[in-house]
Amino acid sequence: MKYYSTNGKSEPATFRETLFTGLAGDGGLFMPEAFPSRGQRQRSATGQCHGPGNNFFHDIGSYNFHELAFIACRKYISDITDKNLKGIIRDSFSKKAFPVNNSPSPLVRISKDLYILELFHGPTLSFKDFGARFMARLMEHYLAGTKKRLTVLVATSGDTGSAVAHGFFGLAGINVVVLYPEGRISPLQEKQITAPGGNIIALKVRGDFDDCQRMAKKALSDAEIRGKMTLSSANSINIGRLLPQMFYYFSAVSQLTALRRGMAKREPVFIIPSGNFGDLCAGLFAKRMGLPARKFIAAVNINSGVPHYLATGKLPRVKTRLTLSNAMDVGIPSNFARILDMYHNNRVALKRDIDAVTVTDGETEKTIGLAFKRFGYVSDPHTATAIAAAFNCNLAGPKIVLSTAHPAKFPDIVSRNTGEAVKLPARLASCMKKRGKSTSIPADFRRLKKILLSQGNVI
Ligand SMILES: *Cc1c(COP(=O)(O)O)cnc(C)c1O
Repeated sequence: MKYYSTNGKSEPATFRETLFTGLAGDGGLFMPEAFPSRGQRQRSATGQCHGPGNNFFHDIGSYNFHELAFIACRKYISDITDKNLKGIIRDSFSKKAFPVNNSPSPLVRISKDLYILELFHGPTLSFKDFGARFMARLMEHYLAGTKKRLTVLVATSGDTGSAVAHGFFGLAGINVVVLYPEGRISPLQEKQITAPGGNIIALKVRGDFDDCQRMAKKALSDAEIRGKMTLSSANSINIGRLLPQMFYYFSAVSQLTALRRGMAKREPVFIIPSGNFGDLCAGLFAKRMGLPARKFIAAVNINSGVPHYLATGKLPRVKTRLTLSNAMDVGIPSNFARILDMYHNNRVALKRDIDAVTVTDGETEKTIGLAFKRFGYVSDPHTATAIAAAFNCNLAGPKIVLSTAHPAKFPDIVSRNTGEAVKLPARLASCMKKRGKSTSIPADFRRLKKILLSQGNVI
């Protein structure tokens, strides 16, 4: 499988090249040349499944997470053997990293047609552990046996940085530089980024997330930097992070089938707390592979320009404001170019598959309270935006809300709306006790460049 650039000016790349370069040479995002589809499926325009027959999706309930992961990504990664790929999957999604019984991404039914896909059981308690752990192990696999040293550069609005820091911590030959907006992430998120130390370097930027992202993007396409060091991104623009995010969509449908004792009459609607739209994009990849999905609804906060785009065709640039769902404080999603590419810029086609709903902080808080009162379900502010969108969704059939973070990551907001204290899981409690180390820098690319180059000389 080769990958082309959404800007169309670079040569197609191998998976390995996309993994290490992140961004295409022409500044575009990499896209797979094909979406290998599994099984045939007949489907009416209303999204109803008509007896899919004896094929993969019919039997999807009988596969476990590791098997589904292998089937989902096998064709995208051509130069790793079956055995090694299975090993990478086992390691990335081990019981030790995700201490849950049936699946690393358990599907919980909270009412007749409402399900929560819990993606927060990894080491840093957000869904970003799925992408970061898999990508780190892929890189480790490719680097083993070469003398290459690598610097991974990541801009984060909170959870990416911690997941990447943990995913790469202690791996030989790899340094990680994390950029995050100073004062705009939670104390716990900051601690998770700054506490590991060692090969993890934390930089707090005096600006917002879009500044961090702009600086990272610039560094990744800077000729001088690229000439002097091997720099990779670890943002959700990296295909190595996007692919593993398909796994839990497959797992969700597998578990849904098992819970319902058969394929649901209607395909599920996925509702996704969205910022950079990596999660949603992975869902679209899965759908292209044949995964039953009636619709993807992006729950966004007031910062997102996407609802405006869907309504008017224009993606406005708005100044980001801090919200309760801070990992979603993104004006222009970095994966949007991929989504437009998949739909050939056809907004009408795109709207058939995707909807976007803006959820205010007030609604988020109210929903945390409501979900607890009605269903006894405790949700974090990001998940709550999607639960709010689910409450307002009038599509029939199963609705699956992706729960992107553990409520204990936002104890104050959660407890003031449920009226109960949130218990901090043991691994978070021990992280909070550690001392963190971070350097404050202005939102200035030249400063970042200097740090990267001096660091490049050191390693
Ligand atoms: C990163 C993040 C999101 C947004 O995910 P995208 O893939 O960037 O859309 C939502 N919720 C949480 C908790 C996150 O950490």
